[in-house]
Amino acid sequence: MQSWSLQGARVVVTGGAGFLGSHLCDALLAAGAAEVIAVDNLVTGNLDNLAHLDDEPRFRVLRHDVTLHLEVDGPVDAVLHLASPASPVDYLHLPIQTLKVGGLGTHNMLGLARAKAARFLLASTSEVYGDPQVHPQAEDYWGNVNPIGPRGVYDEAKRFAEAIAFAYHRTHAVDVRIARIFNTYGPRMRMEDGRAVPTFIRQAMAGEPITLHGDGSQTRSLCFVDDLIDGLMRLLCGEHTGPINLGSEAELTVAALAHHIVEVVDSDSEVVSIERPVDDPQLRRPDASLARRELDWRASTDLRDGLERTVAWYRERDTAQ
Ligand code: NAD
Repeated sequence: MQSWSLQGARVVVTGGAGFLGSHLCDALLAAGAAEVIAVDNLVTGNLDNLAHLDDEPRFRVLRHDVTLHLEVDGPVDAVLHLASPASPVDYLHLPIQTLKVGGLGTHNMLGLARAKAARFLLASTSEVYGDPQVHPQAEDYWGNVNPIGPRGVYDEAKRFAEAIAFAYHRTHAVDVRIARIFNTYGPRMRMEDGRAVPTFIRQAMAGEPITLHGDGSQTRSLCFVDDLIDGLMRLLCGEHTGPINLGSEAELTVAALAHHIVEVVDSDSEVVSIERPVDDPQLRRPDASLARRELDWRASTDLRDGLERTVAWYRERDTAQ
């Protein structure tokens, strides 16, 4: 039962020019939002992701760093905070910006939500579980994070973001929603962002060797972007505060993923092993039973289908350039 509606709502989406943020802007407009304001400093995002909305009168982009104060005129019904470098290549390269956007940025956006009495949704991550010692990971698992390891900048920023979101919820009654997003892939992921799916697709399309970290026995559970956005929309409009895991429960090894991609691309690339990054999690699969129960949601797109749609998008883009 959804008691809260996007019809006529004014929504601020931080990180709106990114992979997930741009798809979320599309979904909000499709759901009848009166105005969607994407706030982004383009540090890892790209306005190309929003080019199709150039003539949409209900949409605008504000180029702004959310670690700085943000003034928005008029009423705001929801603040969706997705701004953050999200791929390991990005956050290892931007460690302080990553901590700042998770810390100061989340604080600022909670302040905006409080001032406007708006609902606040935080895009948190499965990385709050770190290199997990329980498998699969349910929301009541507190995680195994190395705070001073190189990946700590992202994991701890998101853990802080969850903590401050809950503090605003308890102290100032801000209507908070927290999504713990697991690995998601699909069209609009930057080919160079270092995450496994775009990297393997790029390598397969170029006929280059596919570079597995270590022996590729580590697992991931990959969610297609359309499913994830549907989950975020259900969380936003529903009554469960979270944190709630959103991700696919179909777990596979990174080696198996590489082989699927070679087949989907129909490539001759060989698969080779390279050094494993520090603190790379060995296992990653959500226990998504809470999302099933509370949001009536599950990731339903078959991996092959999602990979085919993603490869088709990269090919289209290749020919357009
Ligand atoms: P992305 O890099 O494509 O998008 C992030 C966006 O935030 C970019 O457009 C970037 O320019 C913007 N941004 C970063 N710092 C900013 C700042 N200080 N001010 C304004 N804008 C800023 O990444 P994504 O995959 O779309 O991830 C979106 C969110 O979802 C992130 O918060 C990420 O942590 C979370 N998430 C994503 C995944 C995934 O698999 N894609 C998994 C878990 C969590």
